[in-house]
Amino acid sequence: MIPLDEARGAVLARCAPAAAITVPLDAALGHVIAESIRSTEFVPPFANTAMDGFAVRAADTVGASDAPVTLRLVGTVRAGMSGLDSPVGAGEAVRIMTGAPMPPGADAVVMVELAGASADGSSVQIAAEVPVGNHVRPAGDDIEPGDLLLEAGTALTAAHLGVLATIGVGHVVVVPRPRVGVISTGDELIDDGSPLAPGQIRDSNRLTLRSLLSASGFETIDLGLVRDDEDAIEAALLAGVASCDALVTSGGVSMGDFDFIKVVLDRIGDMRWMQIAIKPAKPLAFGTITRPSDGEAVPVFGLPGNPVSSMVSFELFCRPGLRQMSGFGAAQLDRPTVMAIAEEPLARRPDGKIHFARVRCAYDLDSATYRVRSSGAQGSHHMASMAAADALAVLPDGPAIAAGDAVRVMLLTL
Ligand code: AMP
Ligand code: MG
Repeated sequence: MIPLDEARGAVLARCAPAAAITVPLDAALGHVIAESIRSTEFVPPFANTAMDGFAVRAADTVGASDAPVTLRLVGTVRAGMSGLDSPVGAGEAVRIMTGAPMPPGADAVVMVELAGASADGSSVQIAAEVPVGNHVRPAGDDIEPGDLLLEAGTALTAAHLGVLATIGVGHVVVVPRPRVGVISTGDELIDDGSPLAPGQIRDSNRLTLRSLLSASGFETIDLGLVRDDEDAIEAALLAGVASCDALVTSGGVSMGDFDFIKVVLDRIGDMRWMQIAIKPAKPLAFGTITRPSDGEAVPVFGLPGNPVSSMVSFELFCRPGLRQMSGFGAAQLDRPTVMAIAEEPLARRPDGKIHFARVRCAYDLDSATYRVRSSGAQGSHHMASMAAADALAVLPDGPAIAAGDAVRVMLLTL
């Protein structure tokens, strides 16, 4: 058995980030940006009002909190107007709507709630003394030309895209995310909804793995179900590397006589078959197959067939590797990890392996701690407890974690 870190290192060493491409802003969400962005514009581009109300000269409102002052109304500006022709003079006010440019001459806004226009609209009574700049958003108040808005390596969020749209950026240079083909292998599997014949089970891994991939932002290609047959597996892998940037297979990587994924991957690719000191998900066949058309080394993740093993292996190797291909940095590859308090013992025996226990993890506001409980039976075929889990507790080699002990937890839903 090799340590988990060594296996991860072997995988990550061969998951190189893809070459950056230019995409329109509306296709960039979730991608890692490959360039730093500085603003070339002022935001807001012009001084404007944050409130509906009246643009005034602050000096004209002195004392208005004690005795209201009356100002002559000389116009209206609304959002989208370029401004006013003549400046606001002493004793004058302009009706103004949120987002409208400040008229020249005015230096403050009195919100509509503190003012009352006369019935004929010729004047307004101001009931508050306001300082210069009241409710005014100056040009460049938010962003100025030259401000560093995004650093290369940032994963683009909705707010990042909003900022880029604000300064008029239409395209960005990002690292594309891999298209990932998914293959199930096993003579016992069916996927056509027919009743089970003796010895058969339904293929669940393909849908689970494709769903994990989509939920992580990757495009997935269904490459179907392949029998435990060397030629069929070879044909499926070769077809897969022709059309995908990475492949994920399940099954056929253990010690059995019909575990052909590792055999074929070794023959047609550059593969390392690993026995990793973890439970579940001990075996992993990871390698690359060279795509004949362009010489690209396409990563192939040969995950174990047991449903929980395939999911844990996905979390530990596949998702980090694919995220690295997508441009994420070393600190961004994994799910978030927190320390939690075990509310009950988390069973295990010393066996030289790190165990990943399916748990439910909740944040307790009163004690300001995460708390975990087992989500059920921990066999690698026990899917029900995986479905009930929202986290994996990382149990180091040794005896059980006792109730009340702290334990590291990977949160699977973030
Ligand atoms: P293998 O890794 O091929 O030896 O498979 C290990 C176990 O996982 C066996 O009990 C298989 O029947 C089961 N298994 C393999 N592939 C799948 C799959 N796609 N869906 C559900 N169970 C599977
Ligand atoms: Mg099998």
